Amino acid sequence: PVENPNILTKNYKTANSWTIEAYEKAGGYQSLRKALAMEPAKIIDEVKAANLRGRGGAGFPAGMKWSFLKPNPEKPNYIAVNADEGEPGTFKDRTLMELDPHRCVEGFIISALALNVHTVYCYIRCELVLSIRRMQQAVREARAKGYLGDKVLGKDFKLDIVIHPGAGAYICGEETSLLNSLEGLRGEPRLKPPFPAVVGAFGAPTIVNNLETLATVPTIIEMGGENFSKLSKLHHLKDGGVRLYGVSGHVKKPGVYEAPVGITLRELIYDLGGGIRNDRKMKAVIPGGSSTPVLREEDLVHAPDEKHILHPWHGKSHLDVPMGVDTLRSLGTMLGTCCAIVMDDTASMVRVAENLMIFYAHESCGQCTPCREGCAWMARLCTKFANGTATRQDLDTLGDVANNIMGNTICALGDGAAMPMLGILKLFRNEFEAAIGKGAPLLEGRSA
Ligand code: SF4
Repeated sequence: PVENPNILTKNYKTANSWTIEAYEKAGGYQSLRKALAMEPAKIIDEVKAANLRGRGGAGFPAGMKWSFLKPNPEKPNYIAVNADEGEPGTFKDRTLMELDPHRCVEGFIISALALNVHTVYCYIRCELVLSIRRMQQAVREARAKGYLGDKVLGKDFKLDIVIHPGAGAYICGEETSLLNSLEGLRGEPRLKPPFPAVVGAFGAPTIVNNLETLATVPTIIEMGGENFSKLSKLHHLKDGGVRLYGVSGHVKKPGVYEAPVGITLRELIYDLGGGIRNDRKMKAVIPGGSSTPVLREEDLVHAPDEKHILHPWHGKSHLDVPMGVDTLRSLGTMLGTCCAIVMDDTASMVRVAENLMIFYAHESCGQCTPCREGCAWMARLCTKFANGTATRQDLDTLGDVANNIMGNTICALGDGAAMPMLGILKLFRNEFEAAIGKGAPLLEGRSA
């Protein structure tokens, strides 16, 4: 069985865990006291040593990202916390905000110390009403106790945190779109470069980090970066520590679980998620949010892969490869937000694809033609397969449209739609062929 390291979730079951009293009683804000006595560069070194990969989806090393911050003598530095959490199937950050908001606040303060930031913006998805309220309350309590304000715990360091609810757009989870939205502009991604670390919020250097990433920082300071990294089963691949996993769909115990980095999908689905509902057979799993291509149990690892990462798992099922940023990339998918969506053998992959493509067509911001038109085309074509009006030609067109989006857009939403489409087409082409002239069975609980 997978053991719970009980670090990120250790306060989840405490009564009134979201209050400052409960947090302080559990040893909260001690890491901040320790960090206040450290040089900022030392804090960054610890985060680097922790091999903390960003928990928002891209998996970029957080310490390295911090070192890209390029201070501008005429502007302040900012941190923008990405708590938009709009990726379908992803619901882990909200548990931190609802059940342990002071861990988040403490992480923000320590990160601000490291980066010489005096204002942290926390951008929260508007539907997460309880998260917004709990975070606002935590900021108020922290201010009243002197953890925020003109002198943080009496030290000559000024800091405030602004809780900023979004307005319900998936695209505002993309970092530059988030910054535009924060500035009151349309939530449209910016062309990069310049990157936010050079020109970010309000034209000032800004580090954009996922909420869980920063909520992990107090633990890194408490136990030391290297010790934290070693908790991972993929420490040797520089993918360190513990993290939150989500599992949803056709499993017996959907939810958010804490485990070391590098448990396998099988452990996530069967040990933590309780296995497939009604003990049916699993058909496919989307490993880390809807943009990540699907995997199947019956597919086996063919090592050596390009970077020779998968060698130890040669011949094993894809479900038995440890879930890490590099291992899943080597499998042709992504770790993403580490929140898996599981489908049993009753699910029609044509309908799954249709569902996803309708979502992406709706959420495309419309700036780039391949994404704006392509996502809508993919959605329409999937609907044709679902309702039985598609032709054989449509199958080729669907693949062509997806391939023409890849790499041809301003932001990752386009690829994020094309990749799962191509992944489903590759593994379940037979279901699309079978749907020609016949249509596909409805997903459970859905009407036509
Ligand atoms: Fe907008 Fe899509 Fe282009 Fe991203 S890829 S900028 S969402 S149109």
